[in-house]
Amino acid sequence: MNGAYAERMARLAREAGRAVVALPAPDTQGVAPEAVAAALAADPSITHVGVVYSETGSGIVNDVPAIGAVVRAAGRRMIVDAVSAFGALPFSLSEQPEVDAVVFTSNKCIEGLPGIGFAISPVERVEAARGNAQSWSFDLADVYDTAQRAGWGSFRFTPPVQALHAFGVALDIYLAEGGQPARLARYRENCRILYEGAQQLGLRPYLDWEHQGPIIALFHQPQVPGFDLQRFVEALKRRGVLISNFHNTEAPTMRIGCIGHVGPDEMRFALNALRGALEEMGVRRRDAA
Ligand SMILES: *Cc1c(COP(=O)(O)O)cnc(C)c1O
Repeated sequence: MNGAYAERMARLAREAGRAVVALPAPDTQGVAPEAVAAALAADPSITHVGVVYSETGSGIVNDVPAIGAVVRAAGRRMIVDAVSAFGALPFSLSEQPEVDAVVFTSNKCIEGLPGIGFAISPVERVEAARGNAQSWSFDLADVYDTAQRAGWGSFRFTPPVQALHAFGVALDIYLAEGGQPARLARYRENCRILYEGAQQLGLRPYLDWEHQGPIIALFHQPQVPGFDLQRFVEALKRRGVLISNFHNTEAPTMRIGCIGHVGPDEMRFALNALRGALEEMGVRRRDAA
């Protein structure tokens, strides 16, 4: 667990009646596969490892293939939260047979509207889990059985038709852009421009570049009297830029996304807005970090 979404996954699992063994790790670098191997060796009752691919709370990308390799070697199963990764970061279910499910949504790297959650899972694993969900929403076997009975594309609940239609368009745009490699390259470049430009404004990144994923970058809030994240967010908003008005690191940070239908021009526009907002709040360059 190296961030807020790992905490959320633990909470979801607990509330679904599962016994959760937490493996806390610093939120400034990827989870070490050796630590996962040691935890599995120490506790044979652990059946599954949950891992967050791109930890949107901190900006870290965890090494899912390396963690998967130790899970596979230990004969256990894995569930991957790829919500802010899928579509940009590579993933291969066939190369990671230890994975029972990889989960993502319509609204992050696929750049669709929010409203749909996806789980990709081998059919035999879904069938093996029948009757085991303890949650109707999360019951993949029930989803599968409904599809078999009522036809593929059937929903158990009212489908979000606008979001589904938008998702189809988002996929067309995704393929026209060049799919996963092209999207990853665009996000990496967005992130590099932001990471370097923000440092030129005096902001201190939360992660070292070697641990920085391409999806979201965090910077320490300037340690000056009177700095207030909400006021800063509003100053940015007046300049046409929106960032998160919360942080989920222990240290006070600000979170800036590098994803969405944005490229180098928009990132430079955002840097200008950051400069203006810092000036408006009276933060001088040497005080920003
Ligand atoms: C955004 C996100 C979620 C939650 O997705 P929602 O669409 O906000 O429900 C879960 N995990 C990760 C890693 C995320 O980035």
